[in-house]
Amino acid sequence: MAFRFRRGFKTEAESHALELRKELKLPDHSPICPWKLAEHLEIPVHTLRSIRDVEPMAYTYLSGVGHEYFSAVTLFGGTHGCTRIICHNQSHAKTRQRANLAHELAHAILLHPPTAIFECDLETEEEAKWLGPALLVPQPAAIKIAFASDAIDVAADNYGVSEVLMRMRLNVTGANNIARRSRANSKLR
Ligand SMILES: [Zn+2]
Repeated sequence: MAFRFRRGFKTEAESHALELRKELKLPDHSPICPWKLAEHLEIPVHTLRSIRDVEPMAYTYLSGVGHEYFSAVTLFGGTHGCTRIICHNQSHAKTRQRANLAHELAHAILLHPPTAIFECDLETEEEAKWLGPALLVPQPAAIKIAFASDAIDVAADNYGVSEVLMRMRLNVTGANNIARRSRANSKLR
């Protein structure tokens, strides 16, 4: 059964994507760099390599547990354990790194509390799975792409995401339908 988001969540997700673009002085439909976004949100981003000096315990853990499966994780460090740090696997393809980062940033934007490493809370996980891609391809971007009838690989490339992610966003934002309906209407006229 499909997960049911709390009321208004999807709208909230879209407005986060646009609000953050505004703060970064980017147009609504613009691609976004997750590394720049992390910087803007003041969340340090580490790779498995660089986490070694900062959080040696985390490094030992993350590099041990099947590190090719490891995508990204949010660690809570600092003296009060409330400073977010993202650690991601730099050996994955760039598109996957961007999606992983966006996912972890989504947790931060939604102020999700920490969960134990590799443990997951269904609701916060589903929310981050939705907001991550929405940050990378917000609805105005999806609509622009659908109206331009850009080839999926070109569009994916422009936004630095996988074709799967791009296709998903074109569907769930309704962009494909909106563009199709508008084309059908203009033929009728
Ligand atoms: Zn997550």
